[in-house]
Amino acid sequence: MPSIQVSSTDMKPTIDMIDIQHVREALVSLSKELPDGVIVDDPPTIRHMSDRHNRDSGGLLPAAIISPENVEQVSEVLAWADRSRIAVYTRGSGTGMGHLSDVTEPGVLLLTDRLNRILEINGKGHYARVQAGVINADITKAARSYGLYYAPDPASSALSTIGGNIATNAGGFKCAKYGVTRDSLMSLKVVLPGGDIIDTGRPVTKNVAGLDLTSLITGSEGQLGVVVEATVRLRPIVHGTANAVVFLKDLKESGDAVSAVLQAPVQPTSLEFMPVPYIQTYPDAYVPLVGDAAWMLVATTDGWSKGHDLDVIAQAWEQQGLTVVHPTDEDLETFFVLRKTGKACPHGDVWSVESDAAVPLDRFAELLIFIDNLARDTKASLFLLAHAGDGNIHLSLMLPRTKNDTEMPVRLTTARSRLLDTVLEMGGTITGEHGIGLELKDYLPRQLGAHNLELQRAIRRVFDPNGILNPGKWLA
Ligand SMILES: Cc1cc2nc3c(=O)[nH]c(=O)nc-3n(C[C@H](O)[C@H](O)[C@H](O)COP(=O)(O)OP(=O)(O)OC[C@H]3O[C@@H](n4cnc5c(N)ncnc54)[C@H](O)[C@@H]3O)c2cc1C
Repeated sequence: MPSIQVSSTDMKPTIDMIDIQHVREALVSLSKELPDGVIVDDPPTIRHMSDRHNRDSGGLLPAAIISPENVEQVSEVLAWADRSRIAVYTRGSGTGMGHLSDVTEPGVLLLTDRLNRILEINGKGHYARVQAGVINADITKAARSYGLYYAPDPASSALSTIGGNIATNAGGFKCAKYGVTRDSLMSLKVVLPGGDIIDTGRPVTKNVAGLDLTSLITGSEGQLGVVVEATVRLRPIVHGTANAVVFLKDLKESGDAVSAVLQAPVQPTSLEFMPVPYIQTYPDAYVPLVGDAAWMLVATTDGWSKGHDLDVIAQAWEQQGLTVVHPTDEDLETFFVLRKTGKACPHGDVWSVESDAAVPLDRFAELLIFIDNLARDTKASLFLLAHAGDGNIHLSLMLPRTKNDTEMPVRLTTARSRLLDTVLEMGGTITGEHGIGLELKDYLPRQLGAHNLELQRAIRRVFDPNGILNPGKWLA
């Protein structure tokens, strides 16, 4: 029996009263409105419950997968869902981290995989119009023949969709110089609950007409509307980069090396921090250079002044007593491939907590020392990467997994709580890239405070009065 409880025939059930049977019945009417195949025939599986964290999500299976072929069909789906009070979870490639679109109430999964067309590359206007399901790296591939590229490049650029990048305001390797996804957006086409379609901007570099809804929707994790199209800024390709690497013995020396670059009169394109094991499968020539180092820092510069900028960075490191190595473009590419594919990430049966917190640039060195002490206090092993030029860490703290063990997970969550409190005291943020989702929902009030959070929830109610989009997350 459906568990919908309504006290009057005029009153619609709220989203948390809906059960799976109600969704299935409503789907029968939707299937009459849409062409065959848009409601996907294949039954949902466990991977549809959640994003990358599906193994331990404890989420629900969606009642159906809907894969619209065009904007009008997305509009029809959201009109139907709003009328019937059915939850809609939008999914791009599902590489999101942090249970961003876990199925928490019975509802449907809206995939953007068929919205995969690059609609326009405007070489002279320096912009591209793309559908939400286009893969990030494909934008640059298409723009290259115009001498242009799309700057935001998360490590998942070969996998993740531009719609997902927008909904998470994704960062990446070149943010220190070129900013995050938000900094390369000109306009979004968004379908709202109820089916209305809005355009939030224009293909111009400057636009101050009205409130900035492009920025508001960017990073909203599928809770305000479904992004169906984006107009993104393209930049001229400046051929090649200049590159330098230093090898560092501990986190103290690493923090000092990062500070040396950040305080120098230079803007690196990227400043990537990673453990040395990344190069242990690497050409023999690097082995003597590494010595007993545990960490490495890679700086790249680009543009016409790349040689000069790299000299400034190299001098700053040499003054610190470090030996600067200049990898070839080919070697550098290998570092980044190893970094992107996560091949050096530790594997095994462990409990782990992760953090992608970010701090102001002048507190980064201090954060590394804190992490070192935190791992020691927790008796945990640590795996650490950082977009150091953005003050942004990717940390895993790990403890061995044993049967019926309750102490280890508690130790790790306590450690993460201490880390996030410290990051906030430093003026930082609990997430620099991956977003809030379910993972950080309970920590968000610590950063925003009650008044700010309530204001954000009130804004969500304007966009989505019936709470059908990605329910149960931090704006609910
Ligand atoms: C190997 C790896 C490396 C990564 N590197 C980085 C990195 O360097 N920087 C970084 O920021 N992140 C990184 N990530 C995290 C992830 O790739 C990003 O968050 C990415 O933006 C998610 O895109 P997606 O298409 O997979 O979105 P999904 O995981 O499918 O969805 C993510 C969120 O966006 C919402 N959403 C998706 N599409 C839409 C849409 N069209 N309209 C509205 N809402 C939508 C979903 O509901 C969900 O809340 C990495 C992940 C992996 C697995």
